[in-house]
Amino acid sequence: MARTESDRCPGVLAVHQAADGGLARVRVPGGLLSVTQLEVLRLASAELGDGRLELTSRGNLQIRALRPDGPRELSDRLFAAGLLPSLEHERVRNILASPLSGLDGRYDVLPVAQALDQALCARPELAALPGRFLFAVDDGRGDLTQVGADVLLQAVDDSEALLCIGALSARVTWENAVDALLAAAAAFLQVRDAQEWRIAEVADGAQRIFERLGLRPGSEQPVVGLPVTAGAHGSALAVTVPLGSLTQEQAVTLTEHAAWIRVTPWRSVVIPTVGVEPLTAVGLVTTAESPWNAVTACAGRPGCAKALADVRADARRMLPRLPRDGRRVHWSGCERRCGKPVGDFVDVLAVGNGYLVDGEPREKW
Ligand code: SF4
Repeated sequence: MARTESDRCPGVLAVHQAADGGLARVRVPGGLLSVTQLEVLRLASAELGDGRLELTSRGNLQIRALRPDGPRELSDRLFAAGLLPSLEHERVRNILASPLSGLDGRYDVLPVAQALDQALCARPELAALPGRFLFAVDDGRGDLTQVGADVLLQAVDDSEALLCIGALSARVTWENAVDALLAAAAAFLQVRDAQEWRIAEVADGAQRIFERLGLRPGSEQPVVGLPVTAGAHGSALAVTVPLGSLTQEQAVTLTEHAAWIRVTPWRSVVIPTVGVEPLTAVGLVTTAESPWNAVTACAGRPGCAKALADVRADARRMLPRLPRDGRRVHWSGCERRCGKPVGDFVDVLAVGNGYLVDGEPREKW
């Protein structure tokens, strides 16, 4: 696919003007936030935006409804909090790490993700990466295999990891892993013909990139695992944030009870093990049985001008009546289906006079 324009993924400096005001996306490489950084974000959301922190499907955070002078003030605050280490690279620091890595006995890849972030920001030419280009560093459990990363690094053992691009892969040593990830990103910029945003859009992109890396790819496939589920995991607790929309009260509770949080790409956070009562009292979800674990929604009205319904309000209202057949349920305000899950899901689509559920009308909703 030959695109003719660069991507318009929002950042903190390049704020998207949505129907409800400015929308800023804050990259959180590896998902890790100190409690101090979370507090900075919470206050910024309260004082400059609509008071909520949105968790995205790439493990980032968004602040909506920024007032007109909000972006400048927000960038100053985030810079002071260490959340904007490179102004040039702020939109390209899209790095996921397995959220439970190092917390339940597996190889700890968070230091690899952090080293990748630092090395990425030290390479001026990589600031030209599209804002949609995604790195994923998986600790071997396979939870990030299906997040749609352009370049996936998956732990094999203490000495090697599998570098995966599309259907091709090659083993690299941990010593060379960060260099290999950056070289793959640099090669993507060289092999793309126009303004392609993703490696999958480039003809024979994976093969051409491996050739530039001097690696002979094979067909060894990465392990496929499941996303983190709400509940206890080793020394950590996974907490689902309903619809990925963290309220002020919920954010305050997290800052009071956790020393750090890791943002996952599944609208949840991982925190050190704590008692669950304060969390559930403010509507956070700490068990895998809750239907909230399987429900997502796009922004909808009033945040998005294209939306045909307030899908978030409708999702909350309809939660007890949603189909529960094991599939995730995604509510969309229009056919773009922003934020839809990877793989099979129940498709709830606003059409103006009601909803289509998997293509069938549900006007009574
Ligand atoms: S799916 Fe449509 S309505 Fe929902 S956020 Fe995307 S563009 Fe807006």
